[in-house]
Amino acid sequence: MTFETLGLSPALLRALAENNYTTPTPIQAEAIPLALAGHDLLGGAQTGTGKTAAFSLPLLQRLSKLTPPNGARKPRALVLTPTRELAVQVADSLKTYGRHLRLNVTTIYGGAGMGPQMDNLRRGVDILVATPGRLIDHLERGTAKLDEIEVLVLDEADRMLDMGFLPAIKRILNRVPKERQTLLFSATFEDQIKALALEFMRNPQQVQVTAKNTIAETIVHRAHPVDGSRKRDLLIDILSKRHTDQVLVFGKTKHGCNRLAEQLETAGLKAVAIHGNKSQAQRQKALNLFKAGKARVLVATDVAARGLDIPNLPLVINHDLPMVAEDYIHRIGRTGRAGAQGEALSLVSPEEGGLLRQIQRMLKVDLVMDTIEGFAPSKPIRLDTPIPKNGGGQRQGGHRPPSKPAHRAHGKPGDRGAHAHAGPKQHRSGQGAYAGAYAGSRRGTRA
Ligand code: AMP
Repeated sequence: MTFETLGLSPALLRALAENNYTTPTPIQAEAIPLALAGHDLLGGAQTGTGKTAAFSLPLLQRLSKLTPPNGARKPRALVLTPTRELAVQVADSLKTYGRHLRLNVTTIYGGAGMGPQMDNLRRGVDILVATPGRLIDHLERGTAKLDEIEVLVLDEADRMLDMGFLPAIKRILNRVPKERQTLLFSATFEDQIKALALEFMRNPQQVQVTAKNTIAETIVHRAHPVDGSRKRDLLIDILSKRHTDQVLVFGKTKHGCNRLAEQLETAGLKAVAIHGNKSQAQRQKALNLFKAGKARVLVATDVAARGLDIPNLPLVINHDLPMVAEDYIHRIGRTGRAGAQGEALSLVSPEEGGLLRQIQRMLKVDLVMDTIEGFAPSKPIRLDTPIPKNGGGQRQGGHRPPSKPAHRAHGKPGDRGAHAHAGPKQHRSGQGAYAGAYAGSRRGTRA
């Protein structure tokens, strides 16, 4: 199966080839022909399946067929996403795949100034990628117009509902033309999503890919509670006491990853960083250094690590927890492949308690908490710590597809295990909503 056979235009095929995409993912193979034929789609797929390209490519193809008049033009496609991060990521993908087409892509999200967004809208937009709340603001001010929308995409619909965006989504749906194509992607299909589809979609075709939320059973997961300000020191401590050759470290921001790589270098550890600000060539160069053993540590953001062919690694460290729980799976998917032993360590600050909870809910298992002596945090890790709205899509738990208990954390209470950090450590004990309350996961109650 190739992209050519799916019926995509030469301009899109060229962009895909330049991006080194050779084979469509299952969701792309299923969704693209149906979407190109004009059907409404209900796509059951989560991050990491290639769903963004599955809706972006047909959308771009449809819009590119008709060259819009020059000058200020109104958006003809609208993609709604739950978070600013996803909006930026989707817009980047649209720009990448649409690089040989002359279509404008603009993002609109909360937490940023209205002014520049208004300017962009005024200048003319073909594709609008927006979070629902901020789009409502623009609609109320009359700065965004949706009366020419031909294609509407609801990306991560379940997450948008989890975040309380249903009323905003309904208002938006009532502002777009009835004659349109609607593509809805969601990891789960709760009743609310089905109701939304029934009300707002026309005879939608269903495409589904099986959940990839499985983690190798051979991976040992551990969380090390630590203050945010001491994470770097703890990372250096861990790295200098171990002899693991290749370590992948995940950071939250581009800037943070760069700085961390520099600080590791200063501490005498060979490190390179890859992130979205670097070109594909620069990222590949950094990856090659890492693969060739010239750099021991690769520091990466989630976005940068995707799409890169990173080999199987013995150790992955989360310097920062991912804002979206699924990204934990993607990160950890770099280790423990094909029966090899793998280890996943997460440095967790008190501010990240809510993120830890989100991950544990998704994995349906609690991570072994392992406080390393000398690095105990000044406050306990509370799982009920709120997650910032922008970027912290907090799922209301329990309704993810029942990814089989993805792994068993291999530690018993107090188990220091063959893979444990070599240094001395202390385990706390206790009860309640403190993640640090128990060391073993098999018997732990999830808060
Ligand atoms: P998504 O599920 O849309 O977030 O995509 C996950 C990752 O897979 C992104 O980094 C994409 O760039 C990458 N990707 C999507 N489709 C393909 C493909 N057909 N071949 C290679 N990489 C892909």
